[in-house]
Amino acid sequence: MTPRTENPPNTAGFSTLGLDDRLLASLTALGYEEPTPIQRAAIPPLLEGHDVLAQAATGTGKTAAFALPLLHLVSPDAPTRERTAALVLVPTRELAMQVAEAVHKYGKPLGVIAVPIYGGASMEGQIRTLKRGVDVVVATPGRALDHIRRRTLHLAAVKIVVLDEADEMLDMGFAEDLEAILAATPAERQTALFSATLPSRITAIANKHLRKPVTIRIEREAVAAGTLAKVRQIAYVVTRANKTAALTRVLDVEQPVSTIVFCRTRTEVDELTETLNAHGYRAEALHGGLNQEQRDRVMKKFRANKTDLLIATDVAARGLDVQHVSHVVNYDVPVAAEAYVHRIGRTGRAGRAGVAITFAEPREQRMLRNIELLTKQKIEIAAVPTVADLRERRLESTRASLRETILAGGLEAYRGIVESLTAEFDVMDVAAAAVKRAESPGGEKEESEIPSAAVRPDSHARAAGPRATMDRSRPPKPGSSKKTGRPGELAGIYIGGGRKLKIRPGDIVGAIVNEAKLSPESIGAIQIAERHSTVLVPKDIVEHVIAALNSTSIKGKKLVVRRDRA
Ligand code: AMP
Repeated sequence: MTPRTENPPNTAGFSTLGLDDRLLASLTALGYEEPTPIQRAAIPPLLEGHDVLAQAATGTGKTAAFALPLLHLVSPDAPTRERTAALVLVPTRELAMQVAEAVHKYGKPLGVIAVPIYGGASMEGQIRTLKRGVDVVVATPGRALDHIRRRTLHLAAVKIVVLDEADEMLDMGFAEDLEAILAATPAERQTALFSATLPSRITAIANKHLRKPVTIRIEREAVAAGTLAKVRQIAYVVTRANKTAALTRVLDVEQPVSTIVFCRTRTEVDELTETLNAHGYRAEALHGGLNQEQRDRVMKKFRANKTDLLIATDVAARGLDVQHVSHVVNYDVPVAAEAYVHRIGRTGRAGRAGVAITFAEPREQRMLRNIELLTKQKIEIAAVPTVADLRERRLESTRASLRETILAGGLEAYRGIVESLTAEFDVMDVAAAAVKRAESPGGEKEESEIPSAAVRPDSHARAAGPRATMDRSRPPKPGSSKKTGRPGELAGIYIGGGRKLKIRPGDIVGAIVNEAKLSPESIGAIQIAERHSTVLVPKDIVEHVIAALNSTSIKGKKLVVRRDRA
């Protein structure tokens, strides 16, 4: 029989987009294997100098889609190096930090300096940084305008302006600030506008400020009805810090036979494989960095059931010829909803039922919704199995294996021990001790609960049927949890509306009491500013309150609600 050879992954990836070799090297070092759809669509026109209007939400890889071409324009060996050459406007300080970090990360080999400039931080420190000279300023609009008015931010040399999450900036009331900032930049600059949605207010801005933009909307691949019908789809929402623990807990409970775990990058695949092996699983990595021989070896072991878990990137798993996979795990929510369909289409084949398990971080919940829209199927949001679930499951499998052992016979050699012990102890106790040893041969392991980070208060859990773990996923009463936050600890929530929308503290208390079912006494200090408000709530239920407020309106308006990092 000729050995099966797996198709090598398509590694043309980023190299066909026209990016500088040093940027390509950066991406390889980060473990990125191929561009996401938005990157494939936006990078070439931006490199050619076109304006771009792109519909892309968080988690689609949009940051690299503008950061990589932007680095070409600002790199020290660009034809002219004048500072500041690029301005990225973002709605929030967290995003400013993230984007500046991403520009820095991708542009490391070019020596590009990128800084975040946002409100709430010291003006003096920012002025000092700006004076020293920076290539890329990533700013929130209010603070950018402050600096422009004080003449501490000079935009005369700007070659490219990016408006990131433009719809959010408008929601937060920054429309006038954006106009003023754009007016302070050279008219011949290149402009890119990225927005999760393209309502008419966004297209109006694009019509006014973009020149013959290339418009990008990522068309969705149609998913044939019934493609995933036999796949049970579950998601766990956990913080990044709890992800590995949640994965191992779920694997312990599900006890999958043959599983593929997908990660976004090569680096993540290697790290997770190492972690899982250290936890006693038989895991093998599969990514584009392996040569043909290594790939074949990994696949041979997987097929022969010598590996429990195959940890793979999307590219590496493409073209795999595996007959049956019991579980597909998305350790990261895939950047494109279509990739989700490709990934989980590997399970539940040939009439068998399969399971697809997705781990989403709290901010990635919107991506789950996108996937549901594409597949027209519900993803059940479940709570991470508890220690009690795990014990129950372990006892169940111990019971099953004891039953098999009894049926297989050959117990004569052990009867003597039982007899000698029953002279001293009750036979039930002897048997129970043997079960205990069989269940945890190394003694009992200390296990702790893993908190679910959030539950969407929409129809998911309700529609999920009897296995839906609504009760366990409900957040603890304020102050009642030992694991998720110390009693009395508070966390801030940012609400994207304030005095300008005539919001009063009573409106916020009312919304929290009605939607999140909190008692008014458990709500902390409320501050109402011109364009936003903040409220303190018990830390252990902050995500629940955010989810509740996101599903409702305050003063008749849908407002941005998120964790306040101040
Ligand atoms: P963003 O939508 O820009 O917030 O990106 C979402 C996440 O995807 C970030 O953690 C990026 O580092 C990661 N990412 C972006 N592009 C790629 C890619 N081509 N391959 C793998 N991961 C990526």
